Amino acid sequence: GYATGALTFRAADIIIKKTESGSSKPDPDKLVFGASFADHMLTIKHTTANGWEKPVIEPLRDLAIHPAAKVLHYAAELFEGMKAYRGYDGKIRLFRPDLNMKRMLNTAERSVLPTFDGNELLECIKKLVQVDADWVPRSKSSTLYIRPTLIGTEPQLGVAASSESLLFVITGPVGPYYPTGFKPVSLLADTVHCRAFPGGMGAYKAGSNYGPTIYVNKMAQAQGCQQVLWLYGEKRYVTEVGTMNVFMCLKNKKGGVEIVTPPLDGLILPGVTRQSILDLGRTWKDITVSERSITMDELLEAQQNNSLLEMFGSGTAAIVCPIERIVYEGKSYDLATMNKGAPLTNRFHDEIVDIQFGRKPSKWTVDV
Ligand code: PMP
Repeated sequence: GYATGALTFRAADIIIKKTESGSSKPDPDKLVFGASFADHMLTIKHTTANGWEKPVIEPLRDLAIHPAAKVLHYAAELFEGMKAYRGYDGKIRLFRPDLNMKRMLNTAERSVLPTFDGNELLECIKKLVQVDADWVPRSKSSTLYIRPTLIGTEPQLGVAASSESLLFVITGPVGPYYPTGFKPVSLLADTVHCRAFPGGMGAYKAGSNYGPTIYVNKMAQAQGCQQVLWLYGEKRYVTEVGTMNVFMCLKNKKGGVEIVTPPLDGLILPGVTRQSILDLGRTWKDITVSERSITMDELLEAQQNNSLLEMFGSGTAAIVCPIERIVYEGKSYDLATMNKGAPLTNRFHDEIVDIQFGRKPSKWTVDV
């Protein structure tokens, strides 16, 4: 069979090797995303022959992998993005980490990389955050970003399942996304490239989805936009924005408000923030929430008859990101999002932040 050895590692088996010389922490006011790392990492090796080895927490180090390792040639790689939040009460919490574990396992399966018990990885991640607890910023808005990663390391060329793999988790402090309040973005609605397609990998968090977007993002920037509005197909379905899910707040004919995001049809990454906005929105009596497809035509029609109230992206990094302008087929459209200060976007933001930082008790948080 594929996994003849241990089908999962166990957090109870973890081996901890602490550093004797921790590195100094960066200035919390000058954190650049992804540029600084906590002292320790988690590593867990897997071979098809012997299954998973024991998890190890050890000082952050370079990896040594053979130049033929499958990850370097065929992008046998997947990752997750989550955060640890230090609450107002000093407690450290994770936000819906079960959803990250589920998504990671789905991607592992699709990538023919080894699977494991998600609860065991979650327990290992908690231990890693405990070891580096001092790296979780004491701040109302900075957090510790957590990057679980799984790579195929078998030193053999040829497109095939990797018989050797490495799961590792690194973490690092990240600053607030909005140090001075919401910063709305402009989008290039690109009609030439697509991020995902039916039968493709769009619903999975594989590294191979991201490399090809850099070129398109560069084109967006050359046109004065910060990010890409990803469209799909001849009908130009609105799918995602940059590395975020997308939401539109529409005024309906009866004067009510409908919050729309595209359904999980294979083109959309199942975002943890997306799910949380849907779950919250469904408890609010004054709006309706829909998972339905929306085309560029419908979006522009709503824009023209002033029923597009707000549009925003959602993701772990920013929680929500208001959208103020779209460039499409050579025309620039100024959206109403910020006209009244983006009240719905703000409401989702504040509600989620209150849960993440422990001001509002919720089943969604997990104590570290
Ligand atoms: N879409 C894409 C393509 C992404 O990379 C991300 C970031 N993981 C998201 C959406 C948002 O997902 P989440 O809310 O889980 O961060």
